[in-house]
Amino acid sequence: MSCIADSNSRDVALNRPPVSPLRGESIAAAAPRFDVETVQETGSTNSDLLLRVRQAQPARPLLRAALRQTAGRGRHGRRWFAGAGGALLFSLAVPMKADGGRLAAATLACGVGAAEALRAAGAPLSLKWPNDLLIGERKLGGVLCELATDGDDRRTLVVGIGVNLHLDAATRDSIGQPAAALDETAVPAAQREGLIGSIANGVLEALQLYDEQGFVPLQPRFMALFAQRDRLVDLLELGTRVASGRALGVDGEGRLLLETAQGLRVCSSGELSLRVVR
Ligand code: ATP
Repeated sequence: MSCIADSNSRDVALNRPPVSPLRGESIAAAAPRFDVETVQETGSTNSDLLLRVRQAQPARPLLRAALRQTAGRGRHGRRWFAGAGGALLFSLAVPMKADGGRLAAATLACGVGAAEALRAAGAPLSLKWPNDLLIGERKLGGVLCELATDGDDRRTLVVGIGVNLHLDAATRDSIGQPAAALDETAVPAAQREGLIGSIANGVLEALQLYDEQGFVPLQPRFMALFAQRDRLVDLLELGTRVASGRALGVDGEGRLLLETAQGLRVCSSGELSLRVVR
């Protein structure tokens, strides 16, 4: 377990309430299949683990959690915002066997594992294709999957997870879309370490199933959580609408099935973002 310098003194200087450090040993007890490390602050836990697994694939799954990120990332260079101690922020590095092509729906698999774990903890979670965790129509969290290969061609998937515990006004303003936090639900948001452990366990189970059998066994689990089923949606590619239609669900490869005026369209997640029209 590693710890970088404590930054609570800076919180006091900035007039922010100090946040208690994450207890790595409690996360490790809740997620025994991972090697666990915690830091007070880092740029991005995904970036940290990507650097490491490019050097060498880890022998066991790794979990790195931070109280705060200074450069949290979403897809395509978008920012991930979190106030001090206001979110669960962690990344998993999971050695994979399948080739890159088979990994296309890994984000959806991770979303299923994370959403099921949060539902078991009491949150009324659903999923927005391809990578958002929702409460109602609001975004509670996100999943960012990045694949890395080491010098011996061994693949490791790095899975970044951000889940809001509570949202201050400044963070809500930065996010720029409706967002939700666990402290609005029945989930005991104070039990950060236990929640990180259960989400990590859920993601690992789903990911290993995906690595062995592909997305087919996870497809019904995704459908049970899919928030936009039968809704009219737009698909945006880097902000521009590229398709509109009724979201039917996902296929056995995790691709979105969209009923459009021109017929059925099958859409891979790639650069696409989904927006509900009504
Ligand atoms: P979208 O969520 O806009 O459909 P996306 O799923 O591709 O697109 P991501 O790249 O996963 O989005 O996440 C980045 C976006 O998430 C940001 O542009 C911002 O709108 C939103 N966001 C950033 N921080 C948070 C947060 N703490 N809670 C909820 N949403 C956030």
